[in-house]
Amino acid sequence: MGTTAWEVVARLRQSPLAADFLIHQTPRALHQPYLKADGTPNDRFFTEPTGVFNTAELLVNQLGLTPGVSHGDWSGLQLLLNQYVEDVQNHGDHLQLVARNTLTGQARYFRAATVVLAGGSIESPKLLRRASMYPGLPQPTKDLLGHGLTDHPTSDEITTYANGIGNLPLQSDDHAKIVFYSRGARGANNEVKYPFNVEMNINHEYWHLRENDPGATGTRAPGGAARIDIKFSFGNCLDENNEIKPARPYEYVPEVTFRNQRWADYLAEERFPALAGWNRSAGQIFDLLNDITHAVFSQFQHNGRPASPVDGSKYERGGKGFGWGTVHHAVGSLRMPYRPRLDAPFAAHSVVDEDLRVVGTDRLYVCDMSVIPFSSAANPVRTLAALALRLSRHLG
Ligand SMILES: Cc1cc2nc3c(=O)[nH]c(=O)nc-3n(C[C@H](O)[C@H](O)[C@H](O)COP(=O)(O)OP(=O)(O)OC[C@H]3O[C@@H](n4cnc5c(N)ncnc54)[C@H](O)[C@@H]3O)c2cc1C
Repeated sequence: MGTTAWEVVARLRQSPLAADFLIHQTPRALHQPYLKADGTPNDRFFTEPTGVFNTAELLVNQLGLTPGVSHGDWSGLQLLLNQYVEDVQNHGDHLQLVARNTLTGQARYFRAATVVLAGGSIESPKLLRRASMYPGLPQPTKDLLGHGLTDHPTSDEITTYANGIGNLPLQSDDHAKIVFYSRGARGANNEVKYPFNVEMNINHEYWHLRENDPGATGTRAPGGAARIDIKFSFGNCLDENNEIKPARPYEYVPEVTFRNQRWADYLAEERFPALAGWNRSAGQIFDLLNDITHAVFSQFQHNGRPASPVDGSKYERGGKGFGWGTVHHAVGSLRMPYRPRLDAPFAAHSVVDEDLRVVGTDRLYVCDMSVIPFSSAANPVRTLAALALRLSRHLG
């Protein structure tokens, strides 16, 4: 994605940070950057999406299913638009799906040897809870269904300006997105030292704003320097306080209880002990984030001095904070076998088994983010893609 980005990564890998973090460039979305600095279109850019897939596509590719219309006999895979699945019924030797056309209101019934729910962390548990199959599920499966919905906390961003790293100059039209993935090393008392990733952008608005609107200058660093932003992104074990509650009879919209993890004390007292074995106050966690911010920024120089946060900003109560759940990576509402804490043994019960089959059923599977039993610090889709590939082999 550019020689400057590679060179910045190479220099950061020579710093002491490399002992605790794997430092990588990250892929960016298709359209970034799609214009050259002079405003003309790039002649080469990625045409493959970098973080998106759908279960149907993987099942088609891996099982050799092809759209039915090409067979002329409606065998193969059918994709039906505007069909809302309302019910899954168990008829012994097969399942029956009830779908409703969202334009006409007409119901359609589908006979299926196997059903894979892939409605996502919110919709799949809603569907399963109101499905005709629900009363027949074992009680431990029912007890967990819809519980544990979890996202991962992140911090506010802190900004610095830089003219270079080592002897590599940096300026306002350089760009890189770099992630420091924690190696998960353990320190005193078996605590995970850094249960978070650090995300760093060099001129992060380059792709979004400047090349779309070359007149936009609001986010540039002064004097032609590069602007660098970092933020911290934590993992999270499932949060049992969260729940997708049953909808009322004949209704679809349930109450969703979701702590979006904004409270530093709640994170410090409840979540991070489960995640990392931490026993630290919010203030101690702020101190650690400030130390890492300093360690990263001081690799860069600004006007001959080590770079430091703009305006002296730092993580503290009343200052830059942490704890915003992103609500982009929701997981856990139909969990697979899991450990309630990272240092705990596997729990006795789960909603789906090791093959993603709903426990207590023999033809019903789930393959979406709801099965993931831990909200990782970033980008869960590749893990789900791996699960979909594995399921496709299992079903094949
Ligand atoms: C803004 C944003 C940015 C993100 N960026 C990244 C990223 O960079 N990298 C990454 O790895 N992850 C990213 N994620 C997370 C990732 O997109 C999601 O975790 C992932 O798409 C979830 O996949 P899923 O299959 O569980 O559900 P979904 O992708 O939500 O798919 C569920 C599908 O089921 C359909 N559906 C639901 N209920 C029914 C029903 N009853 N009948 C019929 N159809 C139904 C829905 O319409 C939907 O199409 C991002 C998420 C957001 C919101």
